[in-house]
This record gives sequence, C-alpha cells and structure tokens, in this order.
Amino acid sequence: MLLLAQIEETDDCWIWTGELATKGTPIIRIDGKRHPARRVMLETIGRPLGQLVWDTCDNPACMNPEHLRSGPRREFQQAMAEKGLFPKGLQRSLLSAQNRNARFGMQQVRAEWLSLAAGETTYEGLSERYGVSLSAVRKTCQRWAPLFICQGVR
Ligand SMILES: [Zn+2]
Repeated sequence: MLLLAQIEETDDCWIWTGELATKGTPIIRIDGKRHPARRVMLETIGRPLGQLVWDTCDNPACMNPEHLRSGPRREFQQAMAEKGLFPKGLQRSLLSAQNRNARFGMQQVRAEWLSLAAGETTYEGLSERYGVSLSAVRKTCQRWAPLFICQGVR
C-alpha cells in the first residue's frame, strides 16, 4: 500500500519518509495531488475525521494512528494548552505588540497568562510591563477566553 511504503515503523512512532509539508507534517500524492497523509491514514483505517488532525507525541512526521487524534479546532487547542503549548495566535499577538527588545519565550508567555488567570496580575500590569496597549492585551485575552487561560480575569 502506498501509505505503508513510505512509513518507517519504530517501536513507538511511525516516521513518514515521504514528502513533508513546511510545518513538517506528512504529504502524500494521489493522482499528482498533494494530500495530508495523516488524514488519509485515519480515513483509510476508518477513523472518524474532524476538522483537524494532530499528534499526541509531538512528532509532526508521525503516522502511528495510536498517536493521532482528530476533532474540531477547539479540541485541538485544548490538547495543546494541556501540553503547555499555546495557540500560535496568542503568542503572536503578544510578541508582535511587545517591545522588540524584550524577548521572551513560550514559557514566559504561559506564566504571564496563568498569573493573569489566577488574578495575580491585571491587564494594566501586563500592558505596562510589555509595552502592549491595554486594548491589545484585552483583545488577546478575550479571544482566548474559551480556553482556560483567561478564566477568572477581571
Ligand atoms: Zn508518534
């Protein structure tokens, strides 16, 4: 089978040896057309497909169905948040609005938003500390409020 021919099975992950998308996820060509191979995999084995397909093993090239999940975007975001990874949009809006000299990583973004959620800091505090406008902070927070990040923020 075309799919399996391009997979190198290890004890854990099944590594895709074929073409990869720029984000590192497997691509398969069917009749010359590019398809996300992980979707094709789930479809082939009869798993229900949602809006998105993602992995639980942090290996974007993994094809092991045991490591693959599919569902709506919201479910994906929750899975990422549980792993301590935040939606790119959240990180981007903070990073792009902040003073370029004040670099901080994902962990710091996470810490800030958690302390915001815990009521240990405020919108104003964040706005001041990172030189982000109050409305940008508020907008970012409200945008992601459905996730746990901003619950309880006044
Ligand atoms: Zn895997």
